[in-house]
Amino acid sequence: MTIITGKTKLLGVIGYPVEHSLSPVMHNAALAQLGADYVYLPFAIKPQDLQTALQGFAAVGVLGFNATIPHKQAILPLLSEIDPVAQAVGAVNTVVFKENKWLGTNTDVEGFLAPLKSYDRQWNQQIAVILGNGGAARAVVAGCTKLGCAEIHVVGRDIQKLQEFQKSWDNSPFSLNLQVHPWDSLPKLIPQANLLVNTTPIGMYPKVTESPLSSEQMSYLPDSAIAYDLIYIPKPTLFLQQAAHQGAIAIDGLEMLVQQGAAALKIWLQQETVPDDVMRQALLKQLNS
Ligand code: NAP
Repeated sequence: MTIITGKTKLLGVIGYPVEHSLSPVMHNAALAQLGADYVYLPFAIKPQDLQTALQGFAAVGVLGFNATIPHKQAILPLLSEIDPVAQAVGAVNTVVFKENKWLGTNTDVEGFLAPLKSYDRQWNQQIAVILGNGGAARAVVAGCTKLGCAEIHVVGRDIQKLQEFQKSWDNSPFSLNLQVHPWDSLPKLIPQANLLVNTTPIGMYPKVTESPLSSEQMSYLPDSAIAYDLIYIPKPTLFLQQAAHQGAIAIDGLEMLVQQGAAALKIWLQQETVPDDVMRQALLKQLNS
């Protein structure tokens, strides 16, 4: 049990609702392992209270926090500085209080990239196909751009949202080869995909018998491809089971969750390493409970 002292520093996550967040379990496990005199709390902040909450956080000396739905985009105009990655993504998930200023960044991009680093690929010759065009897809596009993917194809079900998604990257600091497609373009795209990423919630617990692709569509995925599902429960999703059956490499969303958290903790504690193994174990224990 964490001992709260007169010097305990405060970290946390803001969201609404926030009860489902796994971040407190993951971060408090790491802080306990480090013996760091910090505590990480969930804060249910209503959208209309965001500005007041930030003022209150500054007043009580909150050192940093994560932002989740619905604050990831709304918080941007309230921050003093936003780093180029978060600006390009258009969302902030990590905020730190430094020299009387709130600084925002996005560690989802680093989290997404972490498990891909173990695969030796000529990324500048690789084609990425991303299913979905919501918030997480933005971090994935930024990640694929950082990898240097030759082509990035985003597939969605709403043409207007897809066009807005594409337009939103016009002034990005990244140079990217991004194309958007309706869902019925999948038969043409899947056989070309070297990296296929599911950023939709299709297949997420409790709808575990669903997949964004039919078995037939998945059968056209090259067997050397990487299939990456951002969903972390169930483990594996039907999408990843289909991909593994096809001979592709399957990556689930747990490591992204761990590594976006680890990257945030490094920023707050200003240290190079944090116990990500402890964070992973704490998450697995919570997910299996
Ligand atoms: P979001 O902003 O709501 O975006 C979801 C996207 O999926 C939208 O483009 C939506 O399309 C599309 N979609 C939803 N249902 C669909 C369906 N039946 N058919 C086709 N498209 C559908 O959500 P998000 O924040 O990006 O999160 C997406 C998923 O990623 C969630 O499962 C979340 O848990 C996971 N995630 C994981 C991590 C991690 O660390 N592992 C981090 C972030 C997110 P419309 O826009 O047309 O509705």
